[in-house]
Amino acid sequence: MQKHRMLIGGQRVEPASGEWFESINPYTAQAWALVPRGGPKDVDRAVAAARSAFSSDRWRKLTATTRGDLLRRLADLIAADATKLAEIETTDNGKLITEMRGQLNYIPQWFRYFGGLADKIEGRVIPIDKPGVFNFTREEPLGVVAAITPWNSPLLLASWKLAPALAAGNTVVWKPSEFSSVSALVFGDLFERAGFPPGVVNIITGYGNQVGEPLITHRDVAKIAFTGGDRTGEHVYQLAARGIKPITLELGGKSANIVFDDANLDDAVKGVVSGIFAATGQTCIAGSRALIHRSIHDEFVERLLALAKTARMGNPLDADTQVGPVTTEPQYRKVLDYIRIAKEEGAVCRLGGGPAQRAECGSGWFVEPTIFTGVESGMRIAQEEVFGPVLAIIPFDTEEQAIEIANGTAYGLAAGVWTRSIRRALVMSEYLEAGTVWVNTYRAVSYMSPFGGYKRSGFGRESGMEAIREYLQTKSVWIDTLGNVPNPFVMR
Ligand code: NAD
Repeated sequence: MQKHRMLIGGQRVEPASGEWFESINPYTAQAWALVPRGGPKDVDRAVAAARSAFSSDRWRKLTATTRGDLLRRLADLIAADATKLAEIETTDNGKLITEMRGQLNYIPQWFRYFGGLADKIEGRVIPIDKPGVFNFTREEPLGVVAAITPWNSPLLLASWKLAPALAAGNTVVWKPSEFSSVSALVFGDLFERAGFPPGVVNIITGYGNQVGEPLITHRDVAKIAFTGGDRTGEHVYQLAARGIKPITLELGGKSANIVFDDANLDDAVKGVVSGIFAATGQTCIAGSRALIHRSIHDEFVERLLALAKTARMGNPLDADTQVGPVTTEPQYRKVLDYIRIAKEEGAVCRLGGGPAQRAECGSGWFVEPTIFTGVESGMRIAQEEVFGPVLAIIPFDTEEQAIEIANGTAYGLAAGVWTRSIRRALVMSEYLEAGTVWVNTYRAVSYMSPFGGYKRSGFGRESGMEAIREYLQTKSVWIDTLGNVPNPFVMR
């Protein structure tokens, strides 16, 4: 089994604890790699390295264009290693190789885009209302950024943080999920090869309470960029508040895929299936609620069942597999618990409803694609994030009702609308409380378009021009041009 080491100050290091833990392949349920068990001492070392790199001439005195060049060079190295990194991610978290290859081939664009933005961060000259002063603003990096990421799309979600953070001139300590750390540790080799000075990016692994908490509360960490569950997010937010630290929170969702009676039903059926069963439902933007207009409800459900039944389960490394395992054993149990809860609540299980017993699923943590009808908006299955291949179908009668149901959860990450009416598309996109609204498509993301949550799905934006602002602070500089200091007892 490969034994990995962390990255601190450009060096490969062993954890202070001298301990490693096993990373499990969800398809085989067997350990396949050893990950360093970091702790507070490693956090101190990593933050010290990042802080020292932040103040070093080698980083601070780089021109913004050169910083952009480094990011673009990193993009090329990622592209060259995309296949290898995708295979590591699939082995570590069980997501489909087709999905992970797609992500890895796309990730370089985040580094190219933000590399391009690096030298377009500009201040303003303000025609100030006072005589004899010149006032301008500088957009400055914050310092050491703590990036904390989940297991479902490890490198993609890290890139959404690293690319803008580095483009803005910060340094980073990155803590990947304990369930999927291997790709991050291998990815760490690329920073030096791209020419980043040592310590600009540090990677430490371990558990949330042993590495995440000391990292967030560390005196020299200036900003937290977190993606994960909303309960963890709430706790992380409280820890960050103690140090008055800016934070971005990308949290979970209970997104509604809303199908109107005027929709192209062939497309809508595919959209609803892709919203929930692609990625085995383990995506923050999973369309885990389907709101279906009552007049087409029964026909739509039949079509949905017909398509979902064809889903091929099996080895996620096999390009033909369409639904892979659940990533972790605790998550597998949680998904099965929610299926039981839904049944107890009176929802009608129309497909799946338990562990997958298919031969091709081996000993992995597989759950059958599951569809519930007869769901009411107040049920837990319609309110809480399952993060698995479980769809709750709710009928509606009017646009107003669809909006009320869609907005009737604590979350607000994304929503899908299926309609041929432009008026309806515009009305729905205005009234839906979600950071992303897709019309006649689902699960589209881009490095160019801002992504983030409303309500309990978090705040702050990743990707797009908005993202770089999350990693900058504004300084206002006043320079006297009069040459005489005015009355010291009066505000100028
Ligand atoms: P999680 O909240 O359990 O863990 C996320 C990260 O936080 C991990 O690195 C973990 O080690 C760390 N962590 C855990 N406890 C911590 C603590 N006390 N202090 C500091 N760090 C701590 O989430 P997960 O189970 O890995 O990921 C799934 C969740 O992430 C889902 O809820 C999903 O919706 C959400 N998610 C959101 C987005 C988004 O962009 N909005 C994207 C992907 C996943």
